[in-house]
Amino acid sequence: MSSSQPPRHGPATRAIHAQRQRDAFGSPHMPIYDTTTFAYPDTAALREVTEGRRRAPLYTRYGQNPTLYALEETLAALEQAESAWAFCSGMAAISALLLTHGRRGIVCLGEVYGGTMSLLERHLPGLGIDTHCLLEGHDAEALERYLVAGAGLVYLETPTNPRLQLIDVAAVAEQAHRHGALVAVDGTFATPINQNPLALGADLVVHSATKYLGGHGDLTAGAVMGSAEVLSPMWAWRQSLGTALSPQTAALLSRSLRTLALRVQRHSASAQTIAEALANHPALARVLYPGLPSHPGHALACRQMSGFGGMLGIELAGGGEAAARVADRLALFALAPSLGGAESLVTQPCTTSHADLSPRERARRGIGDNLLRLSIGLEEVEDLLADLRQALDPEPAG
Ligand SMILES: *Cc1c(COP(=O)(O)O)cnc(C)c1O
Repeated sequence: MSSSQPPRHGPATRAIHAQRQRDAFGSPHMPIYDTTTFAYPDTAALREVTEGRRRAPLYTRYGQNPTLYALEETLAALEQAESAWAFCSGMAAISALLLTHGRRGIVCLGEVYGGTMSLLERHLPGLGIDTHCLLEGHDAEALERYLVAGAGLVYLETPTNPRLQLIDVAAVAEQAHRHGALVAVDGTFATPINQNPLALGADLVVHSATKYLGGHGDLTAGAVMGSAEVLSPMWAWRQSLGTALSPQTAALLSRSLRTLALRVQRHSASAQTIAEALANHPALARVLYPGLPSHPGHALACRQMSGFGGMLGIELAGGGEAAARVADRLALFALAPSLGGAESLVTQPCTTSHADLSPRERARRGIGDNLLRLSIGLEEVEDLLADLRQALDPEPAG
Protein backbone atom coordinates (compact mmCIF):
# COMPACT_ATOMS: atom_id res chain seq x y z
CA MET A 1 0.00 0.00 0.00
CA SER A 2 1.43 3.39 -0.91
CA SER A 3 1.36 6.25 1.58
CA SER A 4 -1.24 8.11 -0.48
CA GLN A 5 -3.69 5.48 -1.68
CA PRO A 6 -7.03 7.12 -2.55
CA PRO A 7 -9.41 6.45 0.33
CA ARG A 8 -12.55 4.40 -0.10
CA HIS A 9 -14.54 6.55 2.36
CA GLY A 10 -14.76 10.26 3.12
CA PRO A 11 -12.93 11.75 6.10
CA ALA A 12 -15.88 11.78 8.55
CA THR A 13 -16.49 8.07 7.90
CA ARG A 14 -12.80 7.22 8.22
CA ALA A 15 -12.55 9.11 11.51
CA ILE A 16 -15.27 6.84 12.93
CA HIS A 17 -14.63 3.48 11.22
CA ALA A 18 -10.86 3.25 10.82
CA GLN A 19 -10.32 1.35 14.09
CA ARG A 20 -10.38 -2.31 13.06
CA GLN A 21 -8.79 -3.61 16.25
CA ARG A 22 -11.10 -4.99 18.90
CA ASP A 23 -10.32 -6.10 22.40
CA ALA A 24 -11.15 -9.65 23.56
CA PHE A 25 -14.76 -8.60 24.31
CA GLY A 26 -15.38 -6.89 20.98
CA SER A 27 -15.67 -3.41 22.45
CA PRO A 28 -16.20 -1.06 19.48
CA HIS A 29 -13.99 1.53 21.18
CA MET A 30 -10.63 0.32 22.40
CA PRO A 31 -10.60 0.65 26.20
CA ILE A 32 -7.74 2.24 28.11
CA TYR A 33 -5.04 -0.39 28.63
CA ASP A 34 -3.68 1.26 31.73
CA THR A 35 -0.75 -1.07 31.95
CA THR A 36 3.01 -0.76 31.69
CA THR A 37 3.87 -4.20 30.36
CA PHE A 38 2.32 -7.29 28.74
CA ALA A 39 3.11 -10.90 29.68
CA TYR A 40 3.93 -13.72 27.21
CA PRO A 41 3.36 -17.46 27.64
CA ASP A 42 6.93 -18.41 26.67
CA THR A 43 10.24 -17.12 25.33
CA ALA A 44 9.49 -18.12 21.72
CA ALA A 45 6.30 -16.01 21.70
CA LEU A 46 8.12 -13.09 23.34
CA ARG A 47 10.95 -13.24 20.81
CA GLU A 48 8.55 -13.01 17.90
CA VAL A 49 7.65 -9.55 19.19
CA THR A 50 11.08 -8.34 20.34
CA GLU A 51 12.61 -9.43 17.02
CA GLY A 52 9.94 -7.53 15.10
CA ARG A 53 8.29 -10.52 13.42
CA ARG A 54 4.95 -9.75 15.04
CA ARG A 55 3.49 -6.39 16.14
CA ALA A 56 1.91 -6.87 19.54
CA PRO A 57 1.60 -5.08 22.89
CA LEU A 58 4.72 -5.39 25.01
CA TYR A 59 5.88 -2.22 26.76
CA THR A 60 3.91 1.03 26.86
CA ARG A 61 6.85 3.46 26.67
CA TYR A 62 7.73 1.79 23.34
CA GLY A 63 4.24 2.68 22.13
CA GLN A 64 3.34 -1.04 22.18
CA ASN A 65 -0.10 -0.65 23.76
CA PRO A 66 -3.50 -1.53 22.25
CA THR A 67 -5.02 1.86 23.10
CA LEU A 68 -2.23 3.56 21.19
CA TYR A 69 -2.46 1.14 18.25
CA ALA A 70 -6.17 1.87 17.91
CA LEU A 71 -5.58 5.63 17.92
CA GLU A 72 -2.79 5.30 15.36
CA GLU A 73 -5.08 3.40 12.99
CA THR A 74 -7.49 6.34 12.97
CA LEU A 75 -4.71 8.92 12.66
CA ALA A 76 -3.27 7.07 9.65
CA ALA A 77 -6.68 6.78 7.99
CA LEU A 78 -7.34 10.50 8.44
CA GLU A 79 -4.20 11.43 6.51
CA GLN A 80 -4.58 8.55 4.02
CA ALA A 81 -1.26 7.26 5.33
CA GLU A 82 0.11 3.77 5.70
CA SER A 83 1.26 4.43 9.27
CA ALA A 84 0.92 6.90 12.12
CA TRP A 85 2.80 7.38 15.39
CA ALA A 86 1.37 9.15 18.40
CA PHE A 87 3.58 11.29 20.66
CA CYS A 88 3.10 13.04 23.99
CA SER A 89 3.10 16.49 22.32
CA GLY A 90 3.37 18.14 18.94
CA MET A 91 6.93 19.18 19.75
CA ALA A 92 7.85 15.59 20.68
CA ALA A 93 6.64 14.50 17.23
CA ILE A 94 8.46 17.35 15.46
CA SER A 95 11.71 16.72 17.39
CA ALA A 96 11.70 13.03 16.52
CA LEU A 97 11.00 13.85 12.88
CA LEU A 98 13.80 16.43 12.60
CA LEU A 99 16.33 14.31 14.52
CA THR A 100 15.58 11.29 12.32
CA HIS A 101 15.35 12.84 8.88
CA GLY A 102 17.30 16.09 9.29
CA ARG A 103 20.81 14.70 9.46
CA ARG A 104 21.73 15.65 5.88
CA GLY A 105 20.51 19.19 6.50
CA ILE A 106 17.09 20.82 6.80
CA VAL A 107 15.58 23.61 4.72
CA CYS A 108 12.63 25.27 6.42
CA LEU A 109 10.23 27.25 4.22
CA GLY A 110 8.26 30.22 5.51
CA GLU A 111 7.17 30.99 9.05
CA VAL A 112 6.89 28.08 11.50
CA TYR A 113 5.73 27.50 15.06
CA GLY A 114 7.99 29.11 17.70
CA GLY A 115 9.06 25.80 19.27
CA THR A 116 10.03 24.45 15.85
CA MET A 117 11.95 27.66 15.15
CA SER A 118 13.95 27.25 18.40
CA LEU A 119 14.86 23.68 17.45
CA LEU A 120 15.94 24.76 13.96
CA GLU A 121 17.82 27.90 14.94
CA ARG A 122 19.23 27.07 18.37
CA HIS A 123 19.27 23.39 19.27
CA LEU A 124 19.80 21.29 16.13
CA PRO A 125 22.81 23.27 14.82
CA GLY A 126 24.51 22.53 18.18
CA LEU A 127 24.09 18.82 17.39
CA GLY A 128 25.79 19.26 14.04
CA ILE A 129 22.58 19.42 11.98
CA ASP A 130 22.64 22.13 9.31
CA THR A 131 19.44 24.14 9.18
CA HIS A 132 18.46 26.89 6.73
CA CYS A 133 15.31 28.97 7.22
CA LEU A 134 13.90 30.72 4.17
CA LEU A 135 11.39 33.33 5.26
CA GLU A 136 9.86 33.77 1.85
CA GLY A 137 7.89 30.53 1.75
CA HIS A 138 8.61 28.70 -1.49
CA ASP A 139 11.71 30.58 -2.68
CA ALA A 140 12.46 28.00 -5.40
CA GLU A 141 15.90 29.39 -6.26
CA ALA A 142 17.23 29.43 -2.71
CA LEU A 143 15.68 26.01 -2.07
CA GLU A 144 17.37 24.66 -5.19
CA ARG A 145 20.80 25.82 -3.92
CA TYR A 146 20.38 23.97 -0.62
CA LEU A 147 19.03 20.85 -2.33
CA VAL A 148 21.96 20.82 -4.74
CA ALA A 149 24.25 21.16 -1.70
CA GLY A 150 22.67 17.96 -0.35
CA ALA A 151 19.97 18.97 2.17
CA GLY A 152 17.82 15.91 2.85
CA LEU A 153 14.66 17.37 4.38
CA VAL A 154 12.35 20.23 3.43
CA TYR A 155 10.07 21.30 6.29
CA LEU A 156 7.09 23.66 6.11
CA GLU A 157 3.71 24.63 7.57
CA THR A 158 0.71 25.62 5.48
CA PRO A 159 -1.26 27.70 6.29
CA THR A 160 1.42 29.38 8.39
CA ASN A 161 1.25 30.89 11.84
CA PRO A 162 0.36 33.70 12.39
CA ARG A 163 -0.09 35.24 8.94
CA LEU A 164 -1.90 32.32 7.29
CA GLN A 165 0.33 32.24 4.23
CA LEU A 166 -0.05 29.33 1.83
CA ILE A 167 2.79 27.19 0.44
CA ASP A 168 2.32 24.97 -2.62
CA VAL A 169 3.01 21.47 -1.25
CA ALA A 170 2.89 19.74 -4.65
CA ALA A 171 5.41 22.18 -6.17
CA VAL A 172 7.80 21.88 -3.21
CA ALA A 173 7.50 18.07 -3.22
CA GLU A 174 8.22 17.89 -6.94
CA GLN A 175 11.34 20.04 -6.52
CA ALA A 176 12.60 18.22 -3.41
CA HIS A 177 12.04 14.76 -4.86
CA ARG A 178 14.13 15.60 -7.92
CA HIS A 179 17.05 15.83 -5.46
CA GLY A 180 16.09 12.82 -3.35
CA ALA A 181 15.03 14.98 -0.39
CA LEU A 182 12.00 14.29 1.80
CA VAL A 183 9.21 16.81 2.44
CA ALA A 184 7.50 17.14 5.84
CA VAL A 185 4.45 19.36 6.41
CA ASP A 186 3.08 20.56 9.75
CA GLY A 187 -0.64 20.37 9.01
CA THR A 188 -1.86 21.57 12.42
CA PHE A 189 -3.73 24.66 11.16
CA ALA A 190 -5.41 22.86 8.26
CA THR A 191 -6.27 19.55 9.98
CA PRO A 192 -6.60 16.31 7.95
CA ILE A 193 -10.19 17.31 7.17
CA ASN A 194 -9.20 20.37 5.14
CA GLN A 195 -5.86 19.23 3.68
CA ASN A 196 -3.96 15.98 3.10
CA PRO A 197 -0.30 16.82 2.41
CA LEU A 198 0.61 13.18 1.61
CA ALA A 199 -1.93 13.14 -1.21
CA LEU A 200 -0.26 16.35 -2.50
CA GLY A 201 3.14 14.62 -2.61
CA ALA A 202 4.64 15.22 0.86
CA ASP A 203 6.38 12.30 2.59
CA LEU A 204 5.48 13.10 6.20
CA VAL A 205 2.74 15.06 7.95
CA VAL A 206 2.99 16.16 11.54
CA HIS A 207 0.23 17.50 13.79
CA SER A 208 0.03 19.12 17.16
CA ALA A 209 -2.97 17.03 18.24
CA THR A 210 -3.23 19.44 21.17
CA LYS A 211 -5.09 21.73 18.76
CA TYR A 212 -7.93 20.66 16.42
CA LEU A 213 -7.45 16.88 16.67
CA GLY A 214 -7.95 17.02 20.44
CA GLY A 215 -10.25 19.98 19.94
CA HIS A 216 -11.34 20.65 23.52
CA GLY A 217 -8.29 22.26 25.08
CA ASP A 218 -7.93 19.36 27.51
CA LEU A 219 -5.05 17.25 26.16
CA THR A 220 -1.49 17.54 24.84
CA ALA A 221 -0.44 15.17 22.05
CA GLY A 222 1.27 14.95 18.68
CA ALA A 223 1.26 12.68 15.64
CA VAL A 224 3.33 11.92 12.56
CA MET A 225 1.91 10.13 9.51
CA GLY A 226 3.60 8.67 6.43
CA SER A 227 4.72 5.40 4.89
CA ALA A 228 6.03 2.68 7.22
CA GLU A 229 9.40 3.10 5.54
CA VAL A 230 9.82 6.79 6.45
CA LEU A 231 8.28 6.42 9.90
CA SER A 232 10.13 3.35 11.14
CA PRO A 233 13.51 5.07 11.74
CA MET A 234 11.67 7.53 14.05
CA TRP A 235 10.72 4.69 16.35
CA ALA A 236 14.14 4.66 18.00
CA TRP A 237 13.85 8.35 18.97
CA ARG A 238 10.35 7.94 20.39
CA GLN A 239 11.53 4.94 22.39
CA SER A 240 14.80 6.45 23.59
CA LEU A 241 13.37 9.86 24.49
CA GLY A 242 10.33 8.18 26.05
CA THR A 243 7.84 10.35 24.18
CA ALA A 244 5.08 7.90 23.20
CA LEU A 245 1.58 9.09 24.12
CA SER A 246 0.06 7.74 27.35
CA PRO A 247 -2.88 5.29 26.98
CA GLN A 248 -5.21 7.63 28.92
CA THR A 249 -4.56 10.54 26.58
CA ALA A 250 -4.68 8.24 23.55
CA ALA A 251 -8.22 7.18 24.48
CA LEU A 252 -9.26 10.81 24.99
CA LEU A 253 -7.81 11.72 21.60
CA SER A 254 -9.53 8.74 19.92
CA ARG A 255 -12.81 10.01 21.31
CA SER A 256 -12.12 13.51 19.96
CA LEU A 257 -11.35 12.24 16.47
CA ARG A 258 -14.87 10.83 16.05
CA THR A 259 -16.21 14.40 15.89
CA LEU A 260 -13.26 15.97 14.09
CA ALA A 261 -14.96 16.40 10.72
CA LEU A 262 -18.06 17.95 12.28
CA ARG A 263 -16.02 20.34 14.39
CA VAL A 264 -13.68 21.42 11.60
CA GLN A 265 -16.60 22.07 9.24
CA ARG A 266 -18.16 24.35 11.87
CA HIS A 267 -14.84 26.10 12.68
CA SER A 268 -14.28 26.72 8.96
CA ALA A 269 -17.82 27.92 8.21
CA SER A 270 -17.82 30.34 11.15
CA ALA A 271 -14.37 31.71 10.27
CA GLN A 272 -15.52 32.30 6.67
CA THR A 273 -18.64 34.15 7.88
CA ILE A 274 -16.60 36.32 10.25
CA ALA A 275 -13.89 37.03 7.66
CA GLU A 276 -16.49 38.17 5.13
CA ALA A 277 -18.41 40.24 7.68
CA LEU A 278 -15.28 42.07 8.88
CA ALA A 279 -13.47 42.37 5.51
CA ASN A 280 -14.44 46.04 5.06
CA HIS A 281 -14.64 47.07 8.71
CA PRO A 282 -13.29 50.64 9.12
CA ALA A 283 -11.28 49.73 12.27
CA LEU A 284 -9.34 47.07 10.33
CA ALA A 285 -6.46 47.53 7.91
CA ARG A 286 -6.75 43.94 6.71
CA VAL A 287 -8.37 40.58 7.37
CA LEU A 288 -6.10 37.59 6.74
CA TYR A 289 -8.09 34.50 5.82
CA PRO A 290 -7.36 32.05 2.97
CA GLY A 291 -11.08 31.81 2.20
CA LEU A 292 -11.26 35.48 1.15
CA PRO A 293 -10.65 36.10 -2.58
CA SER A 294 -8.45 39.07 -1.50
CA HIS A 295 -6.01 36.70 0.27
CA PRO A 296 -2.81 36.27 -1.80
CA GLY A 297 -2.95 32.48 -1.32
CA HIS A 298 -6.66 32.09 -2.11
CA ALA A 299 -6.25 30.38 -5.50
CA LEU A 300 -3.71 27.94 -4.05
CA ALA A 301 -5.94 27.32 -1.03
CA CYS A 302 -8.77 26.42 -3.42
CA ARG A 303 -6.47 23.88 -5.09
CA GLN A 304 -4.84 22.21 -2.10
CA MET A 305 -7.43 22.58 0.67
CA SER A 306 -11.03 21.42 0.88
CA GLY A 307 -11.88 24.01 3.56
CA PHE A 308 -10.11 27.13 4.78
CA GLY A 309 -9.96 26.40 8.50
CA GLY A 310 -10.83 28.19 11.70
CA MET A 311 -7.82 30.52 12.06
CA LEU A 312 -8.16 34.17 11.17
CA GLY A 313 -5.87 37.22 11.39
CA ILE A 314 -7.05 40.80 11.77
CA GLU A 315 -4.79 43.85 11.49
CA LEU A 316 -6.01 46.93 13.34
CA ALA A 317 -5.87 50.25 11.48
CA GLY A 318 -5.03 51.90 14.82
CA GLY A 319 -1.79 49.96 15.46
CA GLY A 320 -0.51 47.79 18.31
CA GLU A 321 -2.26 49.57 21.15
CA ALA A 322 -5.59 49.43 19.34
CA ALA A 323 -5.03 45.69 18.89
CA ALA A 324 -4.34 45.21 22.61
CA ARG A 325 -7.50 47.19 23.47
CA VAL A 326 -9.61 44.99 21.17
CA ALA A 327 -8.11 41.83 22.68
CA ASP A 328 -8.95 43.16 26.16
CA ARG A 329 -12.51 44.14 25.24
CA LEU A 330 -13.44 40.78 23.69
CA ALA A 331 -15.66 38.83 26.07
CA LEU A 332 -16.17 35.48 24.32
CA PHE A 333 -12.59 35.19 23.02
CA ALA A 334 -10.26 34.20 25.86
CA LEU A 335 -6.86 35.87 25.80
CA ALA A 336 -4.76 32.71 25.63
CA PRO A 337 -2.23 31.01 23.39
CA SER A 338 -3.17 27.75 21.64
CA LEU A 339 -5.96 27.21 19.11
CA GLY A 340 -8.36 24.71 17.67
CA GLY A 341 -10.63 24.19 20.68
CA ALA A 342 -14.36 24.63 21.23
CA GLU A 343 -13.73 28.00 22.89
CA SER A 344 -12.69 30.98 20.79
CA LEU A 345 -9.27 32.40 21.63
CA VAL A 346 -7.39 35.58 20.78
CA THR A 347 -3.67 36.36 20.88
CA GLN A 348 -1.52 39.30 19.86
CA PRO A 349 1.50 37.50 18.36
CA CYS A 350 3.93 40.34 19.26
CA THR A 351 3.20 39.76 22.96
CA THR A 352 2.90 35.94 22.91
CA SER A 353 4.08 33.51 20.23
CA HIS A 354 6.52 36.02 18.67
CA ALA A 355 7.48 38.04 21.77
CA ASP A 356 10.98 36.48 21.65
CA LEU A 357 11.77 38.22 18.37
CA SER A 358 13.04 41.80 18.33
CA PRO A 359 10.62 44.41 16.87
CA ARG A 360 12.93 44.63 13.87
CA GLU A 361 12.89 40.84 13.33
CA ARG A 362 9.09 40.84 13.60
CA ALA A 363 8.91 43.64 11.05
CA ARG A 364 11.17 41.67 8.70
CA ARG A 365 8.69 38.80 8.95
CA GLY A 366 5.70 41.07 8.37
CA ILE A 367 4.26 40.42 11.84
CA GLY A 368 2.86 43.78 12.87
CA ASP A 369 2.09 44.78 16.45
CA ASN A 370 -1.40 45.50 15.08
CA LEU A 371 -2.03 41.82 14.26
CA LEU A 372 -4.48 39.75 16.32
CA ARG A 373 -4.78 36.02 15.72
CA LEU A 374 -8.23 34.58 16.29
CA SER A 375 -9.05 30.91 16.79
CA ILE A 376 -12.72 30.73 15.89
CA GLY A 377 -14.47 28.30 18.23
CA LEU A 378 -17.72 26.41 18.11
CA GLU A 379 -19.97 29.07 19.68
CA GLU A 380 -22.88 30.57 17.69
CA VAL A 381 -21.25 32.59 14.92
CA GLU A 382 -23.71 35.48 15.48
CA ASP A 383 -22.54 35.76 19.09
CA LEU A 384 -18.87 35.77 18.06
CA LEU A 385 -19.52 38.41 15.44
CA ALA A 386 -21.45 40.61 17.89
CA ASP A 387 -18.56 40.30 20.36
CA LEU A 388 -16.01 41.27 17.70
CA ARG A 389 -18.15 44.22 16.60
CA GLN A 390 -18.54 45.60 20.14
CA ALA A 391 -14.79 45.24 20.68
CA LEU A 392 -14.00 47.01 17.39
CA ASP A 393 -16.50 49.89 17.77
CA PRO A 394 -16.71 50.73 21.46
CA GLU A 395 -19.18 53.57 20.86
CA PRO A 396 -21.86 52.30 18.48
CA ALA A 397 -23.15 54.94 16.06
CA GLY A 398 -26.54 56.50 16.86
C1 LIG B 1 1.02 24.16 18.93
C2 LIG B 1 1.75 23.87 17.70
C3 LIG B 1 2.86 23.01 17.71
C4 LIG B 1 3.40 22.39 18.99
O1 LIG B 1 2.48 21.50 19.54
P1 LIG B 1 2.45 21.08 21.12
O2 LIG B 1 1.39 20.04 21.15
O3 LIG B 1 2.14 22.33 21.90
O4 LIG B 1 3.80 20.54 21.44
C5 LIG B 1 3.47 22.73 16.50
N1 LIG B 1 3.05 23.29 15.34
C6 LIG B 1 2.00 24.12 15.30
C7 LIG B 1 1.57 24.70 13.99
C8 LIG B 1 1.31 24.45 16.47
O5 LIG B 1 0.26 25.29 16.42
